[in-house]
Amino acid sequence: MSDADGPEKPVDATPPEELSDTQDSETERAAQEIPPSIPLRVQNLEKHFGGITAVDGASFEVESGSLTGLIGPNGAGKSTTFNCITGVHEPDGGTVTFQGEDITGRSPPEIATRGLVRTFQIARELEEMTVLENMMLAPQDQIGEKLYNAVLPGLRDDVIEQEIELREAVWEMLELFEIDHLAEEEAGNLSGGQRKLLELARALMVDPEMLLLDEPFAGVNPTLEEKLLDRIHDLTEQGYTFLLVEHDMDLIMENCEHVIVMHQGTVLAEGTPAEIKDDDRVVEAYLGGEV
Ligand code: ADP
Ligand code: MG
Repeated sequence: MSDADGPEKPVDATPPEELSDTQDSETERAAQEIPPSIPLRVQNLEKHFGGITAVDGASFEVESGSLTGLIGPNGAGKSTTFNCITGVHEPDGGTVTFQGEDITGRSPPEIATRGLVRTFQIARELEEMTVLENMMLAPQDQIGEKLYNAVLPGLRDDVIEQEIELREAVWEMLELFEIDHLAEEEAGNLSGGQRKLLELARALMVDPEMLLLDEPFAGVNPTLEEKLLDRIHDLTEQGYTFLLVEHDMDLIMENCEHVIVMHQGTVLAEGTPAEIKDDDRVVEAYLGGEV
């Protein structure tokens, strides 16, 4: 590491005058000023796909322990924002700060290890495994086997005890989500709603601080939607923070305490559901877009 011939930064590399107040130092300062009550801050986020601007300078914050909704008409840039936050896409501009740390451009496993976790659709190869097996694999799956072993250093020393603990945690989670009766069922045989419950239960296996869900109610019947919403509300009360990405405005209005509205890649409005409902720009954006 301390090899004198290595590609180390030259000591006398004084930056030119005009670079002394770079955007980097500005964002660093901004990150340091973020209070713990704001776990997630997105600043001037930008993402382009060829000639298409999907996210065009979006900025917002999420408060700790809140159930915050990110809504907007189709094509508003919600999923791209979600993917930039969770490391699936590298943004072309702006910063994502989680718990005071700049996580912009980090990989999804690195971000998950820090406690910011998204749900994943059950992958094809996991469809042939049982619900129980899916849950047992969830931590390695989400933060990667290598990081998983680093996060749980006891694993190598005491494999059996760790396995028993993991099994207990899995059963507790299955009971909490009322899918314990499906433990031996192949994941591929679950209904759309049961899958969504399993996806959220899997995400919780890495003990996150904050969860991001992108349209978790798509294709879910009303009974299971209710169950999923109940679990999300319970978890919020326990102190988990949620960012719920959704295009169904009514669902968000009824369930979130804070709502962020995106339109054409930027934040158009934000506030309480009542404030958003009365905002003419929001109504217009929804009427103009294909909802
Ligand atoms: P939303 O989730 O709000 O419906 P998206 O973030 O999915 O919006 O999309 C925003 C815009 O970016 C749309 O015009 C969409 O077609 C475009 N877009 C999203 N992902 C890609 C991609 N991988 N390649 C090209 N264009 C994309
Ligand atoms: Mg989307």
